[in-house]
Amino acid sequence: MITITDLHKSYPPRNAKGETVEALKGIDLTVADGEIFGVVGQSGAGKSTLLRCVNLLERPTSGTITVAGQDLTTLGEAELRVARHGIGMVFQHFNLLSSRTVAENVEFGLEITGVAKAARRARSAEVLDLVGLSDRASAYPSQLSGGQKQRVGIARALAGNPKVLLSDEATSSLDPETTDSILQLLKELNRKLGVTIMLITHEMEVVKRICTSAALIEGGRIVESGNVIDLLNTP
Ligand code: ADP
Ligand code: ADP
Repeated sequence: MITITDLHKSYPPRNAKGETVEALKGIDLTVADGEIFGVVGQSGAGKSTLLRCVNLLERPTSGTITVAGQDLTTLGEAELRVARHGIGMVFQHFNLLSSRTVAENVEFGLEITGVAKAARRARSAEVLDLVGLSDRASAYPSQLSGGQKQRVGIARALAGNPKVLLSDEATSSLDPETTDSILQLLKELNRKLGVTIMLITHEMEVVKRICTSAALIEGGRIVESGNVIDLLNTP
């Protein structure tokens, strides 16, 4: 589903005296169809850069990224916008619009892609049901708990029926109990919908809980990868 080959990303120096930051130094990884794949590493390891390259918020310096058979690095802006519809994104800080209701937040992405109002309504009801939030459709984000906000974030990410869900530290702002319920939800959605999930996290515990495979990233390089059972049993 996702194949990354020899991916490099350098950031230009911030000022005349600064140095180029080599955030990714040749990443190779493959995320199979239907997997929950975790990329785990410490702060500064390159996780966010990697994820932003996969949804092409960031242009890689070199290398290729293929999602669902399409090499994203060759696409122009217009094609990219279409390709991004096949990728859902979940954020650590939820990124909800505070002036819009839960249902309107979920519909927002569909509005941008030109889905008609009635179809948006129907789809929003469907995905809110999937995440167990049907009864909060007309609430505003400020009226929700952190876990509920993240459920809205997940519903919004699923609204366009993406093949791939990318998660950027989705549970890092949540308490342990809520973390547990969000991880269970992701697992359930992966099973029910067959959506492939790639997540980044600084917590090995998240990987242990829900990932099928994982890669350990350090200093812009993958230092270990494989299925989670093997990784955890490596001395
Ligand atoms: P992580 O998500 O694992 O914390 P990041 O991908 O955010 O790692 O960062 C990797 C490296 O790239 C760090 O050294 C960070 O300071 C640097 N970096 C990230 N974003 C930028 C940017 N926009 N400009 C310059 N350097 C950046
Ligand atoms: P996170 O690890 O949660 O991504 P960071 O503090 O590393 O948080 O990054 C927050 C934002 O700042 C990101 O958009 C990242 O691209 C940018 N950033 C991170 N490091 C640098 C850097 N050295 N120079 C410029 N921008 C940076």
